[in-house]
Amino acid sequence: MALLRMDTLLKEARRNQVALGAFECWDSLNVQGIALAAARTGSPVIFQTTSMEYAPIGGPEIMADMVDFYVRKYSIDAALHLDHGANIKEVEECLRAGYTSVMLDASMKCFEENVSLTKDAADLAHGFNASLEAELGHVGGGDGGVGSESVLTEPKEAAEFVARTDVDCLAVAIGTVHGEYRGKPELRLDRLAEIAQTVKNPLVLHGGSGTPPELLQKAIALGIAKINICTDINKAFLNAIEETRKELSPSLAGNFYRPVVQKMSEKVESLIRLFRREGC
Ligand SMILES: [Zn+2]
Repeated sequence: MALLRMDTLLKEARRNQVALGAFECWDSLNVQGIALAAARTGSPVIFQTTSMEYAPIGGPEIMADMVDFYVRKYSIDAALHLDHGANIKEVEECLRAGYTSVMLDASMKCFEENVSLTKDAADLAHGFNASLEAELGHVGGGDGGVGSESVLTEPKEAAEFVARTDVDCLAVAIGTVHGEYRGKPELRLDRLAEIAQTVKNPLVLHGGSGTPPELLQKAIALGIAKINICTDINKAFLNAIEETRKELSPSLAGNFYRPVVQKMSEKVESLIRLFRREGC
């Protein structure tokens, strides 16, 4: 198995009215846990990293090699995606490292500037036979997330944005937040339905963590094909380390590895099954 373009996997997901989980990666423990969950469920999966996540381990090349290794080891279908690429330099370094998808996030810019930057990034990504994700509107931060305020996606602008930029996958702002919700999560599913009527590309939901399962499943039925999960697996990871820590002795500190991978994979597996709308 090799890494595939993300839009190839997501187009099929949208056709089937399911979504793929896109899980944040930072080391071999969670990469292996995610790969194991994908193998157990027989589902494709998206590995994704921001530059803050690949920098500490030595750069995007190491991340790409590591993900590629586990994709082959477990014979799964997967894509490797740059999450929230801040500029064209980051986008290019990930494409050169072997990422099969990138995001250029110009969602804080005005509409015309977002169009222009996204178009340049799309041309670059397609030259590497990779796909591009961009965001229209802006998914802001809840508690513990980035501090910016959300701006909901305008359905009327969405179709124009996609046509003018050649973007493959569109991230929409419909009420989710990065980090933890401050209050009760409320999604503007009416707005999502309007966007999905005119944009047939796979739609992406950032800030999936902490969103009630029934709301996620309704969003998937309306066209969301990728759900980003960061905080939920960060918490699973830290809890697993804390639990395992109690059972370790200094002479066998490496024994934390297998239990943490196992606990990570259980969390990821439950989310993959939710996004496939099992039981609906
Ligand atoms: Zn995000």
